[in-house]
Amino acid sequence: MKRNRRKETPQIETNSLKFERCVLCGKQTHIPISTPIAARQGYIEGTGQLCPTCYKRIKNV
Ligand SMILES: [Zn+2]
Repeated sequence: MKRNRRKETPQIETNSLKFERCVLCGKQTHIPISTPIAARQGYIEGTGQLCPTCYKRIKNV
């Protein structure tokens, strides 16, 4: 009999709920989800939240 013991850490999920994720690379940003869009850095209307790296890339192009 095989028993698969999965050690799942719900902490990761809870963590990712607190901060926005970059819509391009999927990385968690430092922007809390509760932050108003107008006060966010790296937020592009119609696209979503970007991490600083992707935001720089987009602005450069
Ligand atoms: Zn990114």
